[in-house]
Amino acid sequence: MIDLKAVFAHIERNRDAFLERLFEYVSQPTISAHGIGIEAAAAFLVDLLKQIGIECEAVPTPGCPIVVGRWLESPVLPSALLYGHYDVQPPDPLDAWVSPPFEPTIRDGRIYARGVGDNKGQHFANLLALESILACEGHLPCNVTFLLEGEEEVGSPHIAGFMEERKESLRADLAITSDGSVHESGRPCVTYGVRGVASFELRARGAKRDVHSGNLGGIVPNPLWDLVHLLATMKNESGEITIDGLYDDVEPPTPREREALDALPYDTIRIMNELDLDRLDAPQERSIADRLAVWPTLTINGLHGGYSGEGMKTVLPCEAIAKCDIRLVHDQSRDDILAKVEAHVREYAPHVEFVSYGGMEPSKTPIESPFTEPIRQGIIDAQGEEPLLVPALGGTLPDYVFTRILGIPSFVVPYANADEANHAPNENLELERFFSGIRTGAAILAHLGAVPR
Ligand SMILES: [Zn+2]
Repeated sequence: MIDLKAVFAHIERNRDAFLERLFEYVSQPTISAHGIGIEAAAAFLVDLLKQIGIECEAVPTPGCPIVVGRWLESPVLPSALLYGHYDVQPPDPLDAWVSPPFEPTIRDGRIYARGVGDNKGQHFANLLALESILACEGHLPCNVTFLLEGEEEVGSPHIAGFMEERKESLRADLAITSDGSVHESGRPCVTYGVRGVASFELRARGAKRDVHSGNLGGIVPNPLWDLVHLLATMKNESGEITIDGLYDDVEPPTPREREALDALPYDTIRIMNELDLDRLDAPQERSIADRLAVWPTLTINGLHGGYSGEGMKTVLPCEAIAKCDIRLVHDQSRDDILAKVEAHVREYAPHVEFVSYGGMEPSKTPIESPFTEPIRQGIIDAQGEEPLLVPALGGTLPDYVFTRILGIPSFVVPYANADEANHAPNENLELERFFSGIRTGAAILAHLGAVPR
């Protein structure tokens, strides 16, 4: 095992230098949505990785280049793939920033800059972790592949194809993503998966034009009623989705997941107060943690048709549209669920058109993974606190590229503060979280190196 004390001391001695280098990195606008600064940032990263001594290239894709860096220590040691993204969200609205988005500034113990939390400060911390271990030990405790993409903020359109093509060369024992934020309670956390999403639209049509509700109401079918009846067959008042087979692949949490879910400190009252709610969605007794990690949801995103302007209009509309999404849990699959929804529509409302909008696969890594322990130990060594284990995030990320395409366990170990304001003005990263991120990256690699293969 490497001497972590010495590595932590090295990080401590280099605080100013590390900060200066982070500032240089976040000063570069790298806005994928606008195609700004992408090639330059990829070149900057390649240089940086090479300076650290890591073999590296910027691999072109049909979109932005993906920077791949590799350190092969020994074939008998575990291999970790560290993922991050060098693109950032557009900084607008500019006048809402206290200091300019690409002029990093420290105020009240926080670094303010676009991309400092999402995601430059986080993967840069991992790069510095590796550099610090090399500076102290001259070698790494395990094999490491860095994978830094430039299109995460526009939905990672090329990462899956990239992975498919390089399945063999990218194969690792595990993937680690340092992105997102620690738990809202401030506790460090490890996330084991994300929900997926399947989106679709339902289109109902009646007459070829809107008609008079008195002259033709009761004669001409009403597409809005068609959708209301159809939607009512898809979810009942108890909150249960009633599409045939939808729960077929929903697995109950394992005992270890149950324990982890029950330990998550969600403040239901605070959430209700913040949103001005007097009740939660059905079923009432379900915990917030279970709602987000264990169960799929069916949401009507929009229901449109007819007249909703001022006053009344006695019209019978000719068309109605519902837009919906289903959040998927492991082991559900996007295409299977969309096929089940389509079959349901065919059965209950054959005249309603079903339009698939695709979506993203869910992903999950078992909490029982042998890598849970080294990651947990690394976090404790670096931050002095027991991490919360989060079985799945409620939202969707392309985590399936690791679990489903590469077939490896994947862990999200975030370093940013929960109020990092990512995607918003005044994005920030607490200074101490940046340095504890460097320590955490180093400590996790150190513990991974000790895992028997
Ligand atoms: Zn983002």
